[in-house]
Amino acid sequence: MKTIVAGEDKRAKVVEKDLRPLKSGEALLDMECCGVCHTDLHVKNQDFGDVSGVILGHEGIGKVIAVAEDVTSLKVGDRASVAWFFEGCGHCEYCTTGRETLCRSVRNAGYTADGGMAGKCIVSADYAVKVPEGLSSEAASSITCAGVTTYKAIKVSNVHPGEWIIISGLGGLGNLALQYAKNVFNLKVIAVDINDDQLAFAKEFGADMVVDPLKEDLGKVIQEKIGGAHGAVVTAVGKSAFNGAVDAVRAGARVVAVGLPVESMDLSIPRLVLDGIEVVGSLVGTRKDLEEAFQFGAEGKVVPQYHMRDMEDINTIFEEMEAGKIRGRMVLDLRNID
Ligand SMILES: [Zn+2]
Ligand SMILES: [Zn+2]
Repeated sequence: MKTIVAGEDKRAKVVEKDLRPLKSGEALLDMECCGVCHTDLHVKNQDFGDVSGVILGHEGIGKVIAVAEDVTSLKVGDRASVAWFFEGCGHCEYCTTGRETLCRSVRNAGYTADGGMAGKCIVSADYAVKVPEGLSSEAASSITCAGVTTYKAIKVSNVHPGEWIIISGLGGLGNLALQYAKNVFNLKVIAVDINDDQLAFAKEFGADMVVDPLKEDLGKVIQEKIGGAHGAVVTAVGKSAFNGAVDAVRAGARVVAVGLPVESMDLSIPRLVLDGIEVVGSLVGTRKDLEEAFQFGAEGKVVPQYHMRDMEDINTIFEEMEAGKIRGRMVLDLRNID
């Protein structure tokens, strides 16, 4: 079958690979599409270590075409996800307390397990989340990572209906964060980005306030206008966005880190202590979170923006991503790939 693997030379490669037989607990998906995420860029650039040879992709959606004899959670004909949280151990302190994405024995699609950028993909059936009726595979693909990650991050922010949340970075994740924040959690949104197009896009999708931190002092503006936001979700990939969010929230607020710049942020200890600011990381979402995030998509509350691309475009897409040129999500069309 045709696949996209991480190359030793830090480029993605389209190569043929053999499919192994299914083992106990597994299902075989005929892939329909797979989104391209900034994390894929980190993996192929070896920012988290050299995993060359692994099939990339953790925003995959495919149709079940076979299941192992003992599988009861999926059946042939279902559509299901290939997500970053590919499989947990199922019995550790994290897996048994609703924090399965922190499992120390976790396997991640497109990193430590073969992912969804392929004609077919073998998944651990109990961990592949079913796509509900009424949600297209392309839209579901964006929700499988970007959607659920932002949905979960807003949950973690603990901002209540009617309160202000900062969404920093309005790219692939931020755009979905904005829609979940507005249409599901009923929050007031301050969209923060250094790109005019992204800010225009944010306004169109209902942002209540937009700020370009290169033109205005984010902390000062937000503190003056509303006395600070009640929380922040930072999807940006530069550390200044993390520092800016801490400056712009009010006492007792939580700043949720989602973007993955490979840098450290500055934290004023008096600011944390005296103002009770919390800074927490949030990583993708559990299977239950993904099920919920899919359902809001199926109900039309969240509409992912995506563009279909060919597998062969993968390195071009990564170049566009590195140049900051991507608007919405790039989704690989895998429907007619064997
Ligand atoms: Zn992702
Ligand atoms: Zn575990």
